[in-house]
Amino acid sequence: MPVLLHDTMTREMRPLLPKAGKLTFGMYCCGPTVYGPAHIGNFRTFILQDILRRTLEVDGLKVKHVRNITDLDDKTIRGAQAAQTTLTEFTKTWTDKFHADCEALGLLTPHVEPSAVAHIPQQVAMIKALVDKGNAYVSKDGSVYFKVSSCHDYGKLSHLDLSKRETQSTNSAGEANDSDEYDRESASDFALWKSRKPEDGANFWPSPWGEGRPGWHIECSAMSLEHLGVTFDLHGGGIDLCFPHHENEIAQSECATGVPGFAAHWFHSAHLLVEGEKMSKSKGNLYTLEDLKAKGYTPMEVRFALIAGHYKSSLNFTIKGLEDARSALSKIEKGTERILTVAGFSKEEFAAPTKQEVQTSWGRFAPAWAVLENDLNIPGCLGQIFTVLADKSELTVESARQDLSGLAKILYALGLKLFTSAPAQGVPADVAELGAKRWAAKQAKDFVAADRLRLELAELGWTMLDRKDGYDLKKS
Ligand SMILES: [Zn+2]
Repeated sequence: MPVLLHDTMTREMRPLLPKAGKLTFGMYCCGPTVYGPAHIGNFRTFILQDILRRTLEVDGLKVKHVRNITDLDDKTIRGAQAAQTTLTEFTKTWTDKFHADCEALGLLTPHVEPSAVAHIPQQVAMIKALVDKGNAYVSKDGSVYFKVSSCHDYGKLSHLDLSKRETQSTNSAGEANDSDEYDRESASDFALWKSRKPEDGANFWPSPWGEGRPGWHIECSAMSLEHLGVTFDLHGGGIDLCFPHHENEIAQSECATGVPGFAAHWFHSAHLLVEGEKMSKSKGNLYTLEDLKAKGYTPMEVRFALIAGHYKSSLNFTIKGLEDARSALSKIEKGTERILTVAGFSKEEFAAPTKQEVQTSWGRFAPAWAVLENDLNIPGCLGQIFTVLADKSELTVESARQDLSGLAKILYALGLKLFTSAPAQGVPADVAELGAKRWAAKQAKDFVAADRLRLELAELGWTMLDRKDGYDLKKS
C-alpha cells in the first residue's frame, strides 16, 4: 500500500508515489536558518519529515531528500557582524551545531544539503528569467521585486482570499514577517534581489542589477530546481512557511520555468506550544536540545515527546510530556524484551538485525503499520504498539520472531532506538546544567564564558572532556 498523506494544496488525502516514469521520490524540505541553536519547534518539523522519509523507505521507495541550509538572510548577516566574524565562519558554527543535534535526535542525513550562499548564480539566473518574462521588475535602487499581480493563480496553496492579499507582512501562522520592507510597487510584491546596503557589510554579490544579495524566498526555488528538477514529488515545512514563503516559491518557480505543478504534494506540520503557550524569546520557552539535556532528558526522550501528537494538530510540549516519553520508552523496551526472550534473540541482535532475521512479516504489528501509513498517524501507531505489547498471550518462537520483524521496521520508521538510553549517571543537576551551558558557549565561540564555566565546574570538582560532537563530565 502506498503511504497516504494529506496535501495542503488539494486538501485531500493522496498516495505518495514518484511521478510517472521515475523511480526516486524527490522531497524538498525548508531547512534551518543557521544563526543560533535550532529550538524544539524547528526539530518537531524536521523529525516529522524524517519519519515521513523513513516510512516511505520502509515501504520500498527510493527517496531523495533535500533539506537546505539558510545561511544568507538578515539574521545570519546581523549575527556574523555582532560576533565580529565572517558570514562563512558564523554560519559554519551553527550548521555544525545543528548537525550534532540532528545526529543526537536520530535524524537521517539528507542526501543533499544545499546552502543559499553556494547557490547565488542559480538564484541570479532564476531572477533574470523572471525579469525577462515580465514577472519581476527592478526598482530605482537596484532591488528586484516579484510582481504578484503577474501570477494569475497566486495564493492557490494557502487558499488565500485574494481580496485580502494586499500584504506580505503576516505569515500563515499569524506572525509578523519583517523582511522585504523596500521600495516596491505593491505591498503584496516581495523582494527577489536586495540591493547592497551598508549594513550588509562584506556580504554582497554582483548581479545584472548591481551589487546586492538574493531575497530569502528565491533560494528554495533555485535550489529545488538544481537538485530535484523543474517539478518534484513533495515539499515540506512548518505551517508558518505555507504563506508567504511556499506561496512565493510556487509563484517564482512556475513563472520562471513556465511549468505548473512545482511540487506534487505539500506537507505542513502544525505549530508547537510549550506548556500551553506560544514559543517566544521573551517567554524564555524556546527550548533547545541542550536545555533539555541539561534538565536530564535524553535526545531519544525529546524525540518521543515531539512525535507524541498528530502532525496536523498543534502539540503542547511539556516537561510532563518528557516524563511520559521516558516511561513510554521504558514500557516499549520491557515489552520488547519479553518478545526477545521468547524469540531467543539478544537486545543487540534486535538493535542491528541481520538480513536473515528480518522477515517480511509484520506479526501482530501489521495494524500499527497500517495506521502509520494512513496520514502518518504516529500517535495512532504508538497506541497500536502499546496494545500489542500489553497483550500477554502465549507466543511461539516463530510468532515472536514475526513480531520482532514488524516492530523493528516500525521503530526504524519512527527513528526510535531502544536499549540505548543512558542518562548521565550520577551527574548532579547543577553540574549537568553548567556543562550544557559551557558546551553552548563553546559552540557560540564565546570562549570567555566557556572558560568561566569550566572554572565553575572545577570548583564543584568536575572536569569536562570535549569530544567532536559532544562532551563528558567526569569527577576530577
Ligand atoms: Zn524554503
